[in-house]
Amino acid sequence: MNPATKQILVIGGGISGLSAAVDLARLGLAVILVEHSASLGGHAAHLSCKAADRCVACGACMVEEKIREADTHDAVQIFLNTRIEKIDRHNRFDVTLNQNGQCRHVSVDAVLLATGFTPFHPVNKPYGYGRFENVMTNLELDQMMRRNGAIKRPSDDEFPGNMAFIQCVGSRDSSLGHLWCSKICCGAALRMARCIQHRQPEVKATFFYIDVQNFGKNFQTYYADAQQKVQLIRSIPADVLKTADDRLKLSYFDPDTHAYQESVFDMVILSIGLMPSESTRDLAAMLNIDMAGYSFEQKSALLRPPDGVFIAGTALEPMGIAESTLSAGKAAGDIFHYLKNHDTDIR
Ligand SMILES: Cc1cc2nc3c(=O)[nH]c(=O)nc-3n(C[C@H](O)[C@H](O)[C@H](O)COP(=O)(O)OP(=O)(O)OC[C@H]3O[C@@H](n4cnc5c(N)ncnc54)[C@H](O)[C@@H]3O)c2cc1C
Ligand code: SF4
Ligand code: SF4
Repeated sequence: MNPATKQILVIGGGISGLSAAVDLARLGLAVILVEHSASLGGHAAHLSCKAADRCVACGACMVEEKIREADTHDAVQIFLNTRIEKIDRHNRFDVTLNQNGQCRHVSVDAVLLATGFTPFHPVNKPYGYGRFENVMTNLELDQMMRRNGAIKRPSDDEFPGNMAFIQCVGSRDSSLGHLWCSKICCGAALRMARCIQHRQPEVKATFFYIDVQNFGKNFQTYYADAQQKVQLIRSIPADVLKTADDRLKLSYFDPDTHAYQESVFDMVILSIGLMPSESTRDLAAMLNIDMAGYSFEQKSALLRPPDGVFIAGTALEPMGIAESTLSAGKAAGDIFHYLKNHDTDIR
């Protein structure tokens, strides 16, 4: 038997699943890539380029390249709009796929979960999300920038004069039991603030934070730049209220004056965190992995999956695009070694 007769099921067509599929195919293995939505790329496909006067290595453009590579590789079979109905473990994994109501059975030698994360939904935080049009999430801001190439206030289509970024929304929050840092949101917000200021020089940006998480390539360069151009306030606002003239008032404890302050902004951006995805739990249950108490902090079940099951990318923990591709590469290597140890014909 040669490696091409070994078939791997990759679940999730985000950057992690795509990278793993391409790496596995390059190792000579046959890949079935299953994505339950209508398109490939996952969350990263909605992010905008954050270049200011030069590339800031945000990684967003890696996604299109990976989609093209996976799409054009003969050894990767892609199923969109497809759900995993059932996984039975015998010698191999017998998997039932459901594509738009049509069932199909496949038999695979290993399964990779690349099911990604779920963005935190901030509706219950005291920041007016869902009530005030000009309070948006960082993901929505990225989508607006990607669509229009500029930022305007949703309420009146006017350019904002000043914007506040509130960090750690849904992460590092003991009241929610979410103690983990989502890792990507400090870097993403600072890059985005500088990108907006480059395109719309009239915008003043203020960044409310706990600490700045050093993340991604060139961090020190753009952090030094952001320190010059973005107002950094080490405090998390208590709430956001709407003013009579349709602006947004934030109250916060000012660490410099040791007093409560109020500031008014045209837009407020919530840097929402990365949450474990329900999909990962459901699939783990199909694979008999005990997920009791699982979170990004309590992920021991996923660190020791059963033989033949592998996990990559943000299904495991928060990470950025470049790190997701590394995690996928490691999983592809682990799968190859697992198959090699279970089949002497692979060398
Ligand atoms: C606002 C925001 C800004 C960000 N900015 C940056 C940045 O500037 N730079 C950076 O490096 N990173 C950034 N990130 C992080 C980046 O989005 C992630 O690193 C990346 O998306 C992780 O890819 P993934 O494949 O692990 O997960 P995902 O992107 O979540 O992809 C998972 C895929 O699996 C599919 N899926 C899930 N369950 C199933 C199932 N049961 N069956 C089939 N398919 C399934 C999903 O539909 C999805 O396509 C940002 C994230 C956010 C939220
Ligand atoms: S890495 Fe990011 S900033 Fe650089 S070109 Fe690509 S999308 Fe733009
Ligand atoms: S990366 Fe920054 S904003 Fe995101 S959770 Fe960590 S400290 Fe908070």
